[in-house]
Amino acid sequence: MVNYKARLITIGGKPIGLYHYTAKHGKNIYPVGRCAQNCPGHQTEEEAQEHYREYLLEERYSEVELGRHEKCLKCPVFTVMSVQIDGRIYPLCGDHRKKEIVSKLLKVGESWES
Ligand SMILES: [Zn+2]
Ligand SMILES: [Zn+2]
Repeated sequence: MVNYKARLITIGGKPIGLYHYTAKHGKNIYPVGRCAQNCPGHQTEEEAQEHYREYLLEERYSEVELGRHEKCLKCPVFTVMSVQIDGRIYPLCGDHRKKEIVSKLLKVGESWES
């Protein structure tokens, strides 16, 4: 199990008062997404979550066929297409399959993945 959440950055075991969005796998904790790319850290957990959300939207966004009809999350139209981001599935019609819309649906907090 991998546990994803914003955590205080520690250097030599001491927290430095800044956050990264991180994954914890067993005893190992490491920054993920854009926090792993020379990110100096964030003042708050929310800012670290936001940094990971940007990464998910920009780099993990894909449009995938559902294989069945589902109602669009934003209107009554049925669609076979969805936006998928790291296992999260958002059925959205052609009019609503846009990053600005998915951006409002995508929440980043704490999560577990096996
Ligand atoms: Zn960051
Ligand atoms: Zn729609």
